[in-house]
Amino acid sequence: MFRKNFLIASAFFVLGLSLSYLPLDFSIVGQAQNAKVSSPSEKPSLEYQIGAILYVQKAAEYRALCYQAFNWAKRVIDEDEKLMKKLPKSERNRPRAIIFDIDETVLDNSPAQAYGVLNNRPFNLPDWYAWGEMRKAKALPGAVEFAKYANSKGIRLFYISNRDEVQKQATIDNLIKVGFPDVSEETVILRQGESSKEARRQAVASKYRVVALFGDNLNDFAKEFEKKSVEDRFLETDKVKELWGQKYIVLPNPMYGDWESAIYDYQRLTEQEKAERRLKALELP
Ligand SMILES: [Mg+2]
Repeated sequence: MFRKNFLIASAFFVLGLSLSYLPLDFSIVGQAQNAKVSSPSEKPSLEYQIGAILYVQKAAEYRALCYQAFNWAKRVIDEDEKLMKKLPKSERNRPRAIIFDIDETVLDNSPAQAYGVLNNRPFNLPDWYAWGEMRKAKALPGAVEFAKYANSKGIRLFYISNRDEVQKQATIDNLIKVGFPDVSEETVILRQGESSKEARRQAVASKYRVVALFGDNLNDFAKEFEKKSVEDRFLETDKVKELWGQKYIVLPNPMYGDWESAIYDYQRLTEQEKAERRLKALELP
């Protein structure tokens, strides 16, 4: 059903694109501060996401960034092994762990994003659950190899995600299917209550020495980043600048995330209002 709808929607979308294609009008740049994207009667458009989705799906640069992150992370582990000898005995003897976020950190959901754009359906749980149930997400380039490397060094892997608990079996199946090690009821920790991952991170840290955290969203790393304005996200990022590439490993996600929600002040806005906020957020010459 999903696929059939998808194909029909794709055909209409391509037809629509070919009918509506116009050369880009750069005069909009000068009007950006007060611009309206479309009249309220028009259907909301998610077309602004196409570039970001194509970057994930078609830019070799995106693949290279993923490899870069996971290659670097191997070095972080190797370095940790050398430094371990200098740790106090109590720390040295603690088992080690790595914490991964799942979506856009180890699994690629860009096909679901593409489906949303083609069908003009903003993020919604039925579509999201349906995609999860398909168990078709691919692994990010380099992610499985890195996870296996870490696991071979005796490091436990935890997958802390804000997917809902009802998605647990499909998530476990998908992770195993693409080859991730150490995937189980215990290590896949989904959202049961609050969206903050802090308590779940602390639970892991109470039993393990956490060597590194991986995420595409700042709230995958520390609570200090949660629900902050665009400016404060910059400030908090700068405050811990020595941790990036050291303990915090970031994967690129231009498709969605708190970076975008921050532009909307985390409010529930209409697509029309969001479009206006985006244009207003642009920095001009
Ligand atoms: Mg994520």
